[in-house]
Amino acid sequence: MKIRRYKKVSKFLSFYKNSFGFKTPYQVLVDGTFCYAALENHINIANDIPRYLHDEVKFLTTYCALIETEELGKQVGGAKVIQKQYALHKCGHEGKAIPGDKCFLSMVKKKNPQHYIIATQDKDLQKRLQRLPGVPVIYLNMKTPILLPPSHASEKATQKQSNAVVQAQKTNIDLMKKQKGLLVEGADKPKKRKLKGPNPLSCKKKQNPTKVDESINKVEDGKVEKRSRKKIRIPKHVKELLINNVNNQ
Ligand SMILES: [Zn+2]
Repeated sequence: MKIRRYKKVSKFLSFYKNSFGFKTPYQVLVDGTFCYAALENHINIANDIPRYLHDEVKFLTTYCALIETEELGKQVGGAKVIQKQYALHKCGHEGKAIPGDKCFLSMVKKKNPQHYIIATQDKDLQKRLQRLPGVPVIYLNMKTPILLPPSHASEKATQKQSNAVVQAQKTNIDLMKKQKGLLVEGADKPKKRKLKGPNPLSCKKKQNPTKVDESINKVEDGKVEKRSRKKIRIPKHVKELLINNVNNQ
């Protein structure tokens, strides 16, 4: 097995171990479609799947899944022989079989408490299993076993779990603090902001229509008139007198 593929499988399995409590030997629940594909592609399930998962595997099936394969007749006779080698896990439908896909779905509901890995070639069943948290799915792509990556449902459930753990830890710490008198009731509550008036910087000043700044341009009859200072004109003879006085000094 290529190193990259091995790392991927290890990563996925670690996720299921850490987040959903999967343990070895892994319990792989096998249906007739998987056995049939293995036979067609000359895959030895008992050898190749443990090698792919890099650990011990216990192969199982259910009464319903076995009945379904048997009902398909001689064409899948070889698959039936393989499937019959596996231990039957109680599914609760013994004596009154239901379709294999529905049986497998019932085995993994409520977060897959028995930690089954489902081995099936049924694409529709794979899709439905991916909607449930904590259900690994394995199938054969010709001669290559493939473990599907953890589904969105599994990742979401993990996130929820870790949030709950963080909250529980916080509650415990608060309780310990309280017992030791380190926590004052309501001290860590965020302070309520006092209601203040609107931000004065964001408010425009109201203009007083009666008070008009006279230094600003006056508007008369729609024309803008500039207020200017009157120029003081000095008579010519006074100017000359002043110049003479300066020169004489
Ligand atoms: Zn069943």
